[in-house]
Amino acid sequence: MRVIAIDGPAGAGKSTIAKALAARLGLEYLDTGAMYRAVTCAALQRDIPVDDLSAVTELARTMALDVDDRGVIVDGVDVTSAIRTPEVTESVRWIASNSDVRTELRNRQREWADAHGGGVIEGRDIGSVVFPDARLKLYLTASPRVRAERRVAEAGGDVDEIERAIASRDDSDTSRADGPLREAEGSRVVDTTGLDIDQVLEAIVRLLEENE
Ligand code: C5P
Repeated sequence: MRVIAIDGPAGAGKSTIAKALAARLGLEYLDTGAMYRAVTCAALQRDIPVDDLSAVTELARTMALDVDDRGVIVDGVDVTSAIRTPEVTESVRWIASNSDVRTELRNRQREWADAHGGGVIEGRDIGSVVFPDARLKLYLTASPRVRAERRVAEAGGDVDEIERAIASRDDSDTSRADGPLREAEGSRVVDTTGLDIDQVLEAIVRLLEENE
């Protein structure tokens, strides 16, 4: 099974790079952040308090969740746009720090990889916890300012405000007890500050060649 794990903070370019890399290598692509967002979105829609550990865990275990290149479907409903609202982005930390939810979603991620013969998988704990034996483990990063500027270019907003929101999400992603964001053992760090997509891809393809 050929798994390429891509971790890193928000706005480092993970999704863009993971999709382009998957296309280039003929592999499938999985956005695990979309899974945490989907559980958050479903909890908010069903009025389940995001800090109710057991109710959210029950939801995560029982919901039908389909994530692929075309979008995200929860219990037959397309939530591709709904999972990207500021409300979901603000609340996702509660779901991501729930250890039982993490266990459930990690199991689903491993099942997905088994079913697809591997893939390019992006998130926060993919190389460190979910696939420690991945063929290549990448840690993508960039300066907080550049990450905020990229978000503004994609979706608009005030760059200072977005930089603060990103820093706050970085804090909770790096400080949670289970699966904190960190460079996995054996991961290769790619700083995308000042690089365009093609330059990042070239750097990664070189790392892959070194690793094979
Ligand atoms: O990648 P994205 O920013 O959409 O992820 C949303 C949130 O989901 C992250 O801030 C993080 O808290 C959580 N997440 C996680 N583990 C992953 C992927 C995402 O905890 N593997």
